[in-house]
Amino acid sequence: MEAGAILQKPETRERLMSLVEFDTNGGCWLWIGRLRDGYGRFSLNRTIKMTAHHASFLIHGGNVQPGQVLMHSCDVCACVNPDHLKAGTSKQNAQDAVDRNRRKPFQGKKVTEAVRSAVLRHAGSLREISRDLSVPKTTIIMIRKQANGGH
Ligand SMILES: [Zn+2]
Repeated sequence: MEAGAILQKPETRERLMSLVEFDTNGGCWLWIGRLRDGYGRFSLNRTIKMTAHHASFLIHGGNVQPGQVLMHSCDVCACVNPDHLKAGTSKQNAQDAVDRNRRKPFQGKKVTEAVRSAVLRHAGSLREISRDLSVPKTTIIMIRKQANGGH
């Protein structure tokens, strides 16, 4: 069975959504399954694996043309909310990243409530959190300090 047919099956959608935790602050759908390089990994079957955000985008009716990449508007690699994803060229993706960096509150990285709470909930090491959520280590330390400081 090929990827397209598997993605259309209701049980595939159910399995994908069972690996999602909804972040009410930022609206992100955070992947709680396996991650690689910060991105969720989703197995369609024993042989076909894809990134979780790509699978989610396709499952929810998104369309990715050949040569296009998926961009996260929320900057959270582990997010699979199709509303936070859009297909574009890698050139647009780079420009998008540049635009986002211009509005940088923290070291060129926009820290949304979703990122903040994901950082605080993540049980991994600094390095793992940084990798999984695409947040600089200095920002993670700062978020933790703020959370402990009370204000
Ligand atoms: Zn998101």
